[in-house]
Amino acid sequence: MLKGQTVHEPLQTAVMLWAGRDPAETFAELTRLGIRSGQLGIPGDLDLSCAPQWRDALRAAGFRVFTVFAAYSGESYADIPTVQRTVGFIPPSTRDERERRTLAVSDFAAAIGAPGIATHIGFVPESPEDPDYIAVRDMVRRVCDYAARSNQTFALETGQEPADVLLSFLNDVGRPNLGINFDPANMILYGTGDPIEALGILGSRVISVHCKDGDWPEPGKPGALGEERPLGAGSVGIPRFLAKLREIGYSGPLSIEREASDPVRRMTDIEAAISLLADLKRG
Ligand code: MG
Repeated sequence: MLKGQTVHEPLQTAVMLWAGRDPAETFAELTRLGIRSGQLGIPGDLDLSCAPQWRDALRAAGFRVFTVFAAYSGESYADIPTVQRTVGFIPPSTRDERERRTLAVSDFAAAIGAPGIATHIGFVPESPEDPDYIAVRDMVRRVCDYAARSNQTFALETGQEPADVLLSFLNDVGRPNLGINFDPANMILYGTGDPIEALGILGSRVISVHCKDGDWPEPGKPGALGEERPLGAGSVGIPRFLAKLREIGYSGPLSIEREASDPVRRMTDIEAAISLLADLKRG
């Protein structure tokens, strides 16, 4: 177990949610569905002085946030070249501002009692000699060291790079509180490789997972991303995903992530995903 992880019910169904709406309303909606824990995404423009409201709403609802996710102003997931240009720690022009923001998100997580932070750091170059690789590696070390002061883990969202590249990056950073938020759909959406095989390679470095589904990019459209789908309707193979998680000894939460922009559709799909995971866990 990585430093900073806490023990909870094994494979507990959870939800990836976003700050922005009223916290009490957000938790009321989820607790109605039987969900008691989740990951909280923080949009890049959110004023972080709202931490006390979130802390109080969490206590009142008996809800637990186990990861606070940092997103950044100016990011776009339109297609792969745009992701490369705009997402995470990779773009040099926003690197300093995003480092400050990530440390502030760590403070927010500490204020609400969350044991971990996470983010998409973006496309890490494969060559360890690349100046962007070196700058981002050093930045990840500083974020890990800052998070460690609050006994937090720092998880990198998967998707853009093959598992072996990600694993050698983690080893190169060399911090005990660094791990992975494994998203099987991203590996398919970006055409990176078979997620179940990747999960076997990343194994004990997985801190948390997203239960998300999707289809591969259409052939003949270079740079296009695949399409996100409701859980169970895409190409991940959710039963084999759960079987592999059990095989590698993962016992953390199963965090349903649905990115559909229509909020009604999103909640309907989340409810269906909760049922699907309950059925699969019953086996
Ligand atoms: Mg994800």
